[in-house]
Amino acid sequence: MTRTLVRRAQVIDGTGAAAYVADVLIQGDRIARIGTALEALADDVVDGQGLSLAPGFIDVHTHDDAQVLRDPTMLAKLSQGVTSVITGNCGLSLVPLVTSSPDSPLDLLHTTEFRFPQLDDYAQALARKPAAVNVGALIGHTTLRMCTMSDLNRPADPNEIQAMAGMLDAALEQGALGLSSGLFYQQAYAANMAEMQALVRVVARHSGIYVTHIRTEMDAILQAMEEAADTAQAGPVTWILSHHKCAGPRNWGRTIETLALLERLSQRQKVGMDVYPYSAGSTLLREDLVDGVIDILITRSDPHPEMAGRYLREIANQWGVDQLQACRRLMPGGACYFQMREDDVRRVISHPLSMIGSDGLPHDERPHPRLWGAFARVLSHYCRQEQLLTLPQAIHKMTGLSAERFGLTDRGIVREGAFADLVLFDANRVADKASYDSPRQMCEGIERVMVNGQWAFAHGQAMAHRAGRFLSRPGRNPRAGPQPTA
Ligand SMILES: [Zn+2]
Repeated sequence: MTRTLVRRAQVIDGTGAAAYVADVLIQGDRIARIGTALEALADDVVDGQGLSLAPGFIDVHTHDDAQVLRDPTMLAKLSQGVTSVITGNCGLSLVPLVTSSPDSPLDLLHTTEFRFPQLDDYAQALARKPAAVNVGALIGHTTLRMCTMSDLNRPADPNEIQAMAGMLDAALEQGALGLSSGLFYQQAYAANMAEMQALVRVVARHSGIYVTHIRTEMDAILQAMEEAADTAQAGPVTWILSHHKCAGPRNWGRTIETLALLERLSQRQKVGMDVYPYSAGSTLLREDLVDGVIDILITRSDPHPEMAGRYLREIANQWGVDQLQACRRLMPGGACYFQMREDDVRRVISHPLSMIGSDGLPHDERPHPRLWGAFARVLSHYCRQEQLLTLPQAIHKMTGLSAERFGLTDRGIVREGAFADLVLFDANRVADKASYDSPRQMCEGIERVMVNGQWAFAHGQAMAHRAGRFLSRPGRNPRAGPQPTA
């Protein structure tokens, strides 16, 4: 078993504690020793002097369900130091739906590969063909609806709720981390409290979590947050508010209210939220988000692929129609919506309850730059340039806090005995390069990334060997699914 040493790096351990210089010895898939002068114990030494060594970043908000199988190199994430991704967000998961003709908004996953009736089947596919990063899975409420209901425009009836609960129970038994919902999306919008609470009670039996893209992030956001919090309380389970934002010009500045509400709720129940470091959101192209005020950048259009990378306003002018008509012609597709204000983004990023999640959409023609840049941008822009966060605080939001909230044991921390998911980077140089104009750019300053004790990325390139694993919720039934060993 090779013993690798990272010598004299600044260790930022993921807990939020101050950095310290140490040697870190890795043996097998774990951190074996942290100390000084450990060189004699190592077969292979990497000099970390002048660099920072942190736990591998955990991207808690992804839509990578199909991507980890389709392009297991996962360079957009790995090159930023991400070593684990959480899939199945916003109510949309690949498992357990089996179909060849998905309707939108499962379109966010942009695949016809719905072929995993059980989470075990998905875990086994990953074991056969591992991704470069670890994968933890949420089960999507919208997906469960599509498995069980023929008419999605009404609440589920008791039989349908029972069927969804059964599927969810099986997936949690097989190691799913929890349930996600996206009541914002039309396929889930009709769900009522009874439907959601019944499912959350199943999650509670397995000590899972409830993650939600709430019903609205616009005018009625406080009510939508209360609804989500009350839903989680039915467990009770930990509630994670997805990609927190106040959307639309009328709501700019209102994170003062939403964060106050979140703090109040956090006295009653365990809460968290994720955020990406940009003032534009991105999702499917939707008529209801076209207000004639905010800028909208087309990321993908099935009927007009040539319009990806152009603004809706320009396209409407060129076609001599209004923006709404142009939007209809471009659908189905995707877009970036410049719907947030910077002070709100800053307030959420600097809040102690927030974790970093990219929400990157890997299948867009011209994706939102968050896909390739979210983590590096927090470190360069908000940490080094704006000094909104200290480096240990920023790292904590990408590692220790995320692992704790999502129940990932022995990850998100540099400590003896923990898994050796590590990122070695230059804190003075790390910078995102992806922009709205040029979104598929690798960031700078990430020197090396290790996943489960094996180097996964170095010298600007992914390694051929991929050591990512399927991450089960602790306490799962061990009979289900293989756990590859390093
Ligand atoms: Zn979402």
